[in-house]
Amino acid sequence: MIDLLAGEDRSGFGIACALDVERIPYRRIRHSEDFDARLLIVSGDQVTPAVLRLAVRTPTLIIGSPASPPRELFGVGHGSTLRTAMAISLQEPIWPEPVRLVARRFGMEALRVPRAPVFCPNTHPGGAVLAKLRHPEGALQPAIVRSGSCHWSLVDLGVAFAHLLDESYLPPRDGRTPRPLSRSALLLYYRAPEAIRRIFQRRVYRRLHAELAQQSTPSEYPVDATGWLLLELLKQLVRSAAGGLVRVARWPAPYTSAATLAHDLEPTRFAYTQGLGALAAEIGRSGHPPTFGVVAGPAARYLTQRGADHLRGHDVLCHGLEHRGETLAGSREAIAHGISVARARLEKQLDRRITGFRSPRLDRSPDLPWALERAGFRYDSSYPDVDRENMSHFGAGVRLNVPYRLPLAEEERLRPSACLELPVSAPDCIQPLFEGDDVRTLRRAVREKVAFVHATGGLYVGIVHAGVFGARDSARRTAHLAFVRDQLRHRDIWLATASEIAEWWFARERLEIELDARGLTVANRGDRPAQGVRVVLEYEPQKETICDLPLLAPGASARVEIEELSLLWTTPGRGICQES
Ligand SMILES: [Zn+2]
Repeated sequence: MIDLLAGEDRSGFGIACALDVERIPYRRIRHSEDFDARLLIVSGDQVTPAVLRLAVRTPTLIIGSPASPPRELFGVGHGSTLRTAMAISLQEPIWPEPVRLVARRFGMEALRVPRAPVFCPNTHPGGAVLAKLRHPEGALQPAIVRSGSCHWSLVDLGVAFAHLLDESYLPPRDGRTPRPLSRSALLLYYRAPEAIRRIFQRRVYRRLHAELAQQSTPSEYPVDATGWLLLELLKQLVRSAAGGLVRVARWPAPYTSAATLAHDLEPTRFAYTQGLGALAAEIGRSGHPPTFGVVAGPAARYLTQRGADHLRGHDVLCHGLEHRGETLAGSREAIAHGISVARARLEKQLDRRITGFRSPRLDRSPDLPWALERAGFRYDSSYPDVDRENMSHFGAGVRLNVPYRLPLAEEERLRPSACLELPVSAPDCIQPLFEGDDVRTLRRAVREKVAFVHATGGLYVGIVHAGVFGARDSARRTAHLAFVRDQLRHRDIWLATASEIAEWWFARERLEIELDARGLTVANRGDRPAQGVRVVLEYEPQKETICDLPLLAPGASARVEIEELSLLWTTPGRGICQES
């Protein structure tokens, strides 16, 4: 259905990642002569005179600054590229009404892109303007234009999206990488009386909020819609340019969104003994499928036989070696070694396999994704959607609530990591209380986040710790757990362990869709069964057909006849799966 002509740079990575997240079938081509699909998506630097000739007679979507000026199509010969923040109002004609309605519910009026290349033409482009963008200083210019069968986004949506995924929209902050804490400093913090700890915490957060006020494009707390809106905009461009699109629904039928509750055990004796006991009792009452984040060192020192037996029967992810900031220290090889050792110790102690990781304190650096892949972790959950806790990433966050693969640099190219990311949903446990928020404000933030993720078909990754500091802390956190759990009681929300969510995503990634004029065939190219697969066919204006597929065993395929397809796909296309 779609041929993608894009390099293996940030732009190409971002476009491909967005299509992969939505499982919209596409095929990468190297030359415009290889085009044989319904729609050509081409990143700006791949635009040649041949591409422009093709764009005159075939549905084409150009993304970003074109290497060859689209004179004939848009009357644009010259221009410059600006790397800038910008906003596209949701009142612009390109946005579909359902997106506007959801955005309005959460008080959003625009897609705010923190940083992306924008092409500024010397002359007003010809054709219809489907959306304008606003520069930080207020000037308006065309963002999306259409001429005949060609759509052109003057914003590089690929780079905009990829910048979110590894938070590279922020300029690198020098000298701000926190050093690992010494063991004694860590003990001092965790053993200090609550009043002392509170003074320390409030002082730190006051400073962080003061710095936040200086940032030009911080993430929005508690809900940041940037990632969601970028995906919706790209889908709408495909629908508008091709007349429709085919995708695999994000979650297994009958669910429309997903959630997981992770319980990290912080590195105190209390957390691994009474804290875990109280948490286990609350989980027993709630009945949800838990995922425990366990730190190897404290687990070896403090975990009782009863505690170990409890963890063994549940989903467990590795939460580091000592929780002292060691995931930031040393070379990337040293980090990979450290997290491998932590996992090996936990696997031995708990006698179970561990495939997931969460970085202590949500510490992250460009070395972390490399180390996670090197260590062979299947999934990670260290990147928050909105960061309001980490000292060096305060105000950052990936602004996205769906699983995705982080970009890894390999020589000149970017490629997806073998380790899947499940972004963490802010707020993290009861952390806002430490900043001075009251319980009502905390609960309002959680309620709003869950509602947003539910409404946008995303993944909610909640963290609720076992009690860390003592009985009072434990009671506060178990009460919080009961509250969060209640927010997730909905027949549309798939509440599962982190491993189950990751396994589903892996299976979904390996589905291959073939389209023809009469229907589609979905083949399972992976090594796990895919249950509850739904293929969604969307076509203008705002119509959709949902096809529920039978259980697909590895290697099996299913055929669905769809009459409407003949209207849309005159050219048979073939979707190719990305290797994972
Ligand atoms: Zn932790």
